Amino acid sequence: MVNMMKALVFTAPHTFEYRDVPRPEPAPDEVLVEVKACAICGSDVHGSSGENGRRIPPLVMGHEASGTIAQLGEAVQSWAVGDRVTFDSTEYCGYCWFCTHGMHNLCAQRRIVGVACTEYRKNGAMAQYIAVKARTLYALPPAVSFEQGCLVEPFAVGMHAVLRSGLAAGQTAAVIGDGTIGLMTLIAAKSQGAQVCISGHHTRPMQLAAQLGALDCAQLPQLTAERGADVVYDAVGSQSSFTQAMELVRKGGRIMVIGNHARTIDFPLQRCITEQIDVQFSYSSAGEYPVCLQAIAEGRADLTGLWQSFPLAEGAQVFDRLVHRDESLTKAVLIP
Ligand SMILES: [Zn+2]
Ligand SMILES: [Zn+2]
Repeated sequence: MVNMMKALVFTAPHTFEYRDVPRPEPAPDEVLVEVKACAICGSDVHGSSGENGRRIPPLVMGHEASGTIAQLGEAVQSWAVGDRVTFDSTEYCGYCWFCTHGMHNLCAQRRIVGVACTEYRKNGAMAQYIAVKARTLYALPPAVSFEQGCLVEPFAVGMHAVLRSGLAAGQTAAVIGDGTIGLMTLIAAKSQGAQVCISGHHTRPMQLAAQLGALDCAQLPQLTAERGADVVYDAVGSQSSFTQAMELVRKGGRIMVIGNHARTIDFPLQRCITEQIDVQFSYSSAGEYPVCLQAIAEGRADLTGLWQSFPLAEGAQVFDRLVHRDESLTKAVLIP
């Protein structure tokens, strides 16, 4: 007899059905996780139009999740049933040159959980259970709730950018963009002891940013004796956001581009050279989960207030609100 479970199934563009589907069986190197919280990512919302080819229905979405281990695959030894965990949204091979050099975000065989494209199809965590590779698991410290645990995935994206940029305690950073990744980058920069300004256009996220201790980018000249920011994080990635980053960064400073709304932009080569500005790029995350979990557990990072929770059964309505840009809803977490 096949065990069944409830799942939010993406069945057609802008259509979700909450229904029974077969419960996955963990492969020998996998564990079955009973999902306790799964956040909706902006990429899920965009993907639900069916236009970008990354969410081909039928599919269970969801790559930002946490839960408890319900069953171990035969070869799994270092985990136990009942362990509270989150997991990397990226499955990677673990043995290629990139994987063995701390860059599993660049693994040619990377597969993202909850994505279905022409190359692969992997059901995600908007369900009661999900089977994930044991090597992608991270234990949740007791002080970290399941909701905060599921948000470690986007937090790790911000942390990856901050650690790559070499931002030091006492430095001044500016974040452009008030979406989830912008806010997570802000939290990551603050957790490293930096002073952070933010630039954004949305009322509620900007209120959250202020509560998190972010200043307005208009204050940057006073804060830095007119020099400009040591590091600017562009969490938008458009011509205008990059131009703004060039205005905010100090000579000899650094711009870290995380967003990629535009495929290509004009690049001020001459000014970057004569002002010796480093321009760097950051993609996804590469194992920053423990750093993030520790920052939350120690109170150096606070994700409280960033999300609103809803029952998984109401997932279709929640997606609808996000697709129609309901301003009162920033980040939604679904609870199975
Ligand atoms: Zn995501
Ligand atoms: Zn690899």
